[in-house]
Amino acid sequence: MTKASEYMIADIERNMYQTRQFIGKDQLSAHVMAAMRAVPRDKFVPPEFKALAYADGPLMIGHGQTISQPYIVALMTDLLELTKDDKVLEIGTGSGYQTAVLSLIVDKVYSVEVITALADAAEERLQDLNYTNIEIRAGNGYEGWPEHAPYDAIIVTAAAAYIPSALIEQLKPGGKMVIPIGLPYEHQELLLINKNEQDKIETKFILGVSFVPLVQEKLIDY
Ligand code: SAH
Repeated sequence: MTKASEYMIADIERNMYQTRQFIGKDQLSAHVMAAMRAVPRDKFVPPEFKALAYADGPLMIGHGQTISQPYIVALMTDLLELTKDDKVLEIGTGSGYQTAVLSLIVDKVYSVEVITALADAAEERLQDLNYTNIEIRAGNGYEGWPEHAPYDAIIVTAAAAYIPSALIEQLKPGGKMVIPIGLPYEHQELLLINKNEQDKIETKFILGVSFVPLVQEKLIDY
């Protein structure tokens, strides 16, 4: 681990401690922190932002999109309480950074990205970095990825106007979904959704957050 990435880990730990009343614990799971240490964030940001790669903030990745703040990536990953046999669906591949973090914890990650250019770039980047248990598709995340459903967990990394019913359907009974809900660039709520063994949905508010919007387009083809 480089010195810069140690600062990022320290920032995540500090943020976690400061938000402990919302989260209900003051530390993230060891396997999440291990994954955050292992993924080289500098390989997921544009060259002009390399110096900021390990700062605990979002960065622009082109096409008006961002790579999420490391603390939020770690927190959302932790909330899913993942185990190594899990199959996870991510909506909003973006840079592929969150995808890489998940891939070190679970068996298989499927990720859907609406902007073709970002999906292609993330796929190539993750292959170059030797992440082998990831599949990426260009498409509209509101529809999920039904061919590989059901999923043990679903993570949505853009703010949706409502909870997409396809994603609830594609979640296993006993599964968890983490999703920001709210208006674009305004107040959004990070929700943790549990689907119990009887298919009943329980929703818990975690934290106020700020994400780019989950758009309704079928595909944005550059
Ligand atoms: N997880 C990413 C965060 C990227 S920001 C990372 O770590 O880099 C959110 C991403 O969601 C953007 O790339 C955006 O293009 C994508 N997105 C927006 N609406 C979408 C939709 N309907 N379906 C799939 N992806 C979408």
